[in-house]
Amino acid sequence: MNVSRQTFNEVMVPNYQPAEIIPVRGEASRLWDQQGREYIDLAGGIAVTVLGHANPIMVNALTEQAGKLWHLSNVMTNEPALKLAKAITEATFAERVFFCNSGAEANEAAFKLARKYGNSIGPHKNKIISFFNAFHGRTLFTVSVGGQAKYTQGFEPIPAGIDHVPFNDLAALEAAMNDEVCAIVLEPIQGEGGLLPATQAFIEGARALATRHKALLIFDEVQSGNGRSGQLYAYQHYGVVPDVLTTAKGLGGGIPIGAMLTTAKIAETLAFGTHGSTYGGNPLACAVAHAVFEAINTPAIRANVTARATQLHEGLLAIGSRHGVFEGVRGLGLLVGAPMSATWKGKAKEIVNAGLKHGVWTLVAGPDVLRMAPALNISEAEVAEGLSRLDAACAELVAMPKAA
Ligand SMILES: *Cc1c(COP(=O)(O)O)cnc(C)c1O
Repeated sequence: MNVSRQTFNEVMVPNYQPAEIIPVRGEASRLWDQQGREYIDLAGGIAVTVLGHANPIMVNALTEQAGKLWHLSNVMTNEPALKLAKAITEATFAERVFFCNSGAEANEAAFKLARKYGNSIGPHKNKIISFFNAFHGRTLFTVSVGGQAKYTQGFEPIPAGIDHVPFNDLAALEAAMNDEVCAIVLEPIQGEGGLLPATQAFIEGARALATRHKALLIFDEVQSGNGRSGQLYAYQHYGVVPDVLTTAKGLGGGIPIGAMLTTAKIAETLAFGTHGSTYGGNPLACAVAHAVFEAINTPAIRANVTARATQLHEGLLAIGSRHGVFEGVRGLGLLVGAPMSATWKGKAKEIVNAGLKHGVWTLVAGPDVLRMAPALNISEAEVAEGLSRLDAACAELVAMPKAA
């Protein structure tokens, strides 16, 4: 059967507008499309493919488990899920884990937990506070907690009891706090919102306010987690421990899995029968995620994240000053953002498209920020090649006569 990019328009719901190319194969941080053209992958499947493509560690874990057992349901537990949960609890603050299939589901679980926890304290303790420009997923509850109105418009009525305040504004958060708040939800580094790290003072202040008002502090580490920040989870980078942490994306390295992490005490809120998922914690996904987790939780990966982040920052600053497209570089670890300069405001997507023409895959984070979230094991040579292709792409773009 022959399929092409045109097929997408004929058979798929139009909620996405994928690129013109269709990759068919990958190896480490390189991809090849239907025509056999090669690309350097600086996108990492949007912060997912932490070990690159077709990594033998993952291929082995998958094929070994595929020959044994794929699915049981929650009527029975399974060894891969228990091993993964043990590894996660040993490496983090968490004492209890809930598995699901995506970031949105991990947040849905966390927000439901927060409501139930609040309810157990008092009937009015149900308010969730989150931040403008935050992104927490695309279910109705998670887009409502997220801070981007464009994702809820047209889907009303949306769940009530959610307040938004400006990110990194501790005074605004303090003003919004009272004893009816059951949770503060934040991304330690806002991903979709433009690669904005929380300030140390803001994270510490949020922790203190949550404790003072007996509210849960929830960190959404769907994007910032699993080694991406240079620590296993970004909370460890800040040295501020949340009550609940949600993650997904890099956790599976490409197999769909999400998780909600919490303490033994708070976990009691989600008593028998209160929440669930058919596929959550299935042996196949957990076996792969466990192999990924062991492979990324190493000093060598942490060192590579730091070194490649520096290489990307320096390279992007050089491209920015050569072609005037960026006005700086920001981010944390291998979540790297280059905000567009005044002349290129709103045009990050044009850089992504020009990059693809030159054989490098990058991302946007909103219209004004070029984003990179490559594999954590990307090599120095792959980053250098990706930067040089991006440099050529920007040179061509800048030289092009502006469309009227
Ligand atoms: C991607 C993302 C989500 C949603 O994850 P899905 O797997 O797409 O549901 C939630 N929160 C953050 C911070 C994300 O980056």
